[in-house]
Amino acid sequence: QPSLVPQQPASNIIRKKLMGYVGFANLPNQVHRKSVRKGFQFTAMVVGESGLGKSTLVNTLFNTTLYPPKEPLPPSAERPKTVAIESIGADIEENGVRLHLTVVDTPGFGDFVNNDDSWKPIVENIESRFDSYLEQENRVNRTKVLDNRVHACLYFIQPTGHSLKQIDIEFMRRLHTKVNLIPIIAKADTLTDEEVADFKQRILADIAHHNIHIFQAPTYDNEDEETLAEAEEIASKIPFAVVGSDRIVDTPDGRQVRGRAYPWGVVEVDNEDHCDFVKLRQMLVRTYMEELREYTNDVLYENWRTEKLLSMGVAQDSSVFKEINPAARLQEERILHEAKLAKMEAEMKMVFQQKVQEKESKLKQSEEELYARHKEMKDALEKQRSELEDKKRRIETGRPLTPEKASTGRKKGFLRT
Ligand code: GDP
Repeated sequence: QPSLVPQQPASNIIRKKLMGYVGFANLPNQVHRKSVRKGFQFTAMVVGESGLGKSTLVNTLFNTTLYPPKEPLPPSAERPKTVAIESIGADIEENGVRLHLTVVDTPGFGDFVNNDDSWKPIVENIESRFDSYLEQENRVNRTKVLDNRVHACLYFIQPTGHSLKQIDIEFMRRLHTKVNLIPIIAKADTLTDEEVADFKQRILADIAHHNIHIFQAPTYDNEDEETLAEAEEIASKIPFAVVGSDRIVDTPDGRQVRGRAYPWGVVEVDNEDHCDFVKLRQMLVRTYMEELREYTNDVLYENWRTEKLLSMGVAQDSSVFKEINPAARLQEERILHEAKLAKMEAEMKMVFQQKVQEKESKLKQSEEELYARHKEMKDALEKQRSELEDKKRRIETGRPLTPEKASTGRKKGFLRT
């Protein structure tokens, strides 16, 4: 995105040394106070077949019982036939910082015999949230804009140990341009370490093969080494192999931990040697929640908004507009076609006029010729008449005819008698 503010060449920046404390070093604290007062909004979506531990993981992540324990449906119960969208909201607070958390669940996803269109209601839901945000932005009064956009989508992959399924690929392909995708291997305690490692490789290969963009923690040039190392370590764990549990269990060495107890030992949720839960929480909450929100606003929403406005015929840059908008292209083609037709018509008109002119001048010429002939004939007749008149007068006055004239006259008279 080109900036509207003219960029100053770097050479123009003059570094000045301050003579004493001015106070703008306190700006970050001002921002901090303000955002603490305002609180934060975050919306996470969880997608995956039922029973993969979605509700358990959400509870584990935010260390609260956002989801009440589920009652399994009796087999006879009427099961929904389509993917539903349900959202649960909660205000949580930690050290005085308030977070309004919304979790959007998608029960039914992948649970049917035919799951071809399972992604559809989810895309529609994400887009309708963008729609609502755009509508709020366009209001006259937009001081209170509620951000209901989905900032992250945790996609739960079944721990099969094979590779991604068609439904996984289809879902990610349809969603990766609309939401920050965070793939998760569910119930990782059901796989061995080696299986997890192989499974991750295959999943990443599939994701790369299908050009799917998953959320990556951004790194900036001016960041310190520690932050860069942390980002790298988080990135190396994707897709996060996680274990969820809202139970506290006793370890053999006498500690009390969140985990799952098995006859052979305890799987600890918060132990990085046991699973990637800690790294996932870092990605989603502790380190990159703000980045997730920013990427949603600056990239995902912005792209969607541009496309939406262009499709509504709002042009920003005409060259881009034509490239993207088929209606504009058609319109331009029509104008070109019409111009071509008009040119052809003008040419035909010109040829026609030329032909008419030629005919006209020809006609005029023959008219003149006719007129001249007519005049000639008239003159000749006139001459003949005056000669005859002359003759008549001479006969009447008894003057003799010229010999040659008399002979013809006699001859005529002789023949007649
Ligand atoms: P959801 O339908 O995806 O929301 O799944 P639930 O969170 O309701 O979990 C379904 C079942 O899986 C419950 O019995 C959980 O105790 C269990 N479960 C949840 N997380 C894990 C996990 O990480 N590992 C194992 N082995 N089981 C889990």
